[in-house]
Order: sequence, then C-alpha cells, then structure tokens
Amino acid sequence: GRRPLVAGNWKMNGTRSSLAVVESVRQGLTPELAERIDVLICPPSTLIASCVAAAYGSPIAIGGQNLHAKPNGAFTGSISAEMLSDLGARYVIVGHSERRAYHHETDDGVHAKALGARRAGLCGIICVGETKEEREQGRALDIVRAQLAIGVPKGATAADTVIAYEPVWAIGTGLTPTPKDIAEVHASLREMLDKLVGAEAEKIRIVYGGSVKPGNARELMSVENVDGALVGGASLVAEDFLGICAAY
Ligand code: 13P
Repeated sequence: GRRPLVAGNWKMNGTRSSLAVVESVRQGLTPELAERIDVLICPPSTLIASCVAAAYGSPIAIGGQNLHAKPNGAFTGSISAEMLSDLGARYVIVGHSERRAYHHETDDGVHAKALGARRAGLCGIICVGETKEEREQGRALDIVRAQLAIGVPKGATAADTVIAYEPVWAIGTGLTPTPKDIAEVHASLREMLDKLVGAEAEKIRIVYGGSVKPGNARELMSVENVDGALVGGASLVAEDFLGICAAY
C-alpha cells in the first residue's frame, strides 16, 4: 500500500519563534506513528534552513512552498529547486491554488516547475482543485483531470511526485467536500494518473487538502484513495497538526 503523507503548509506565516512548532511536533511524534506515515512541514523559505536544523535526526521532512523552474539565473526574488535541496528540503509544493490565483501560474508553468523539482531530486507536490463556481457547474472532474494531465511530467514516479487535491472553496473556509465527493475526485485522478504513467499510478500518493482539522481528519483520511493530507491553518499549531497525524 501507499505510505500516508501528512504535510503542513505554513503559507506566509512564521518567524524564528515558529521553530518551537517544529520542536513540539518532533517531541509529540511517537516512533510508532513515524513508522506508519511520512510527516512534512513546508515553512516559508526564510525558515527552511532553521527548520531543517530543528528537525535534524527526526522523521520530520522539510519542504518548500514554491520554486522557480530554472536552476539559476537573473530571476530576482526567485528560488530554484537546487537552492531548496541545498538547504536540506526534500519536497516542494507546486501549483498551489494561491500561486495560481495571485501569481498567475498556469498548468504549463506547473509542469515546468515539477520538472525543476525532479531535476534537483525533490519530490514535487502538484496541487489541483476546482473553484466553487466550477463545482456548481458540474465541471470539477474535468478541471482537475486537465490540471493533472498538463501538470504531471512524463515518467513521473512515486519518488518524485505527490498529487494534492485541494478544492479552492475548501481552503481556509472550514468547508469540506463530502467523503463521497472526495472519493469520486481521487478515483478519477488515479484513473487519469494511470493514463499518464501506467502502473506507477498505483504507487503515487494523492493527498487531500482544504480545512483538514483534528476533528475531521479521521473521516477524511479514511476515504478510499486518500493517501494523506495537505494542511494549512491547522499545521501552524503543533497540537492540531499532531492531532491530524494521529488520524493514522
Ligand atoms: P487550510 O487547511 O487552511 O484550509 O489550507 C489548505 C491548504 O491550502 C494547504 O495547502
């Protein structure tokens, strides 16, 4: 079976005092749990090096929230996969809906970034998800399948790729799809993955994100084809993040 991944996305939150969160997660993560699941924290870039140090020797992996597709060059303010890897990051989120909405990221751009992540040996967490309007129009499956088909590079493997289904309307709203709706999307994504990468599709993790909390994690994580969570707000509080991990 696929090993669950519980990932925290701190977004644009956190200063050096937030290293205490990593320390608390480290303390609270039992060896039994760490044996069953992968745990990842994606802080802002400014904290990656110090989070890597705080997590050193523990089962907690550290990742980036975004990257530039190119390895280096005249791209003021940008950070490459090689730079993230150099700091000790092992994952990077690609094409988060907030990047798509506020930084005009396209599916082709997501594809290029996913290739960049692979080039540097990082695991890319490729995000897909429909808006409220798209769901109401009955287009959710079409939207996420297209995002997947364009975003996922040829030859993607479970080692370099995780898919995150994050319905835009569920992010930061306290709303979540029904387990049935999540199951439908994840099954559809798995089927599309099979078209894209063949047998490897069975090994690639598809995690759910959008208002995952300790109180709903068990229900959401037990849905078929849900291989973990991408957690925003609740990942900023160690107790909540650990509560979500404990769903496993
Ligand atoms: P929330 O958990 O705050 O809804 O955010 C989800 C998310 O966008 C994670 O990437």
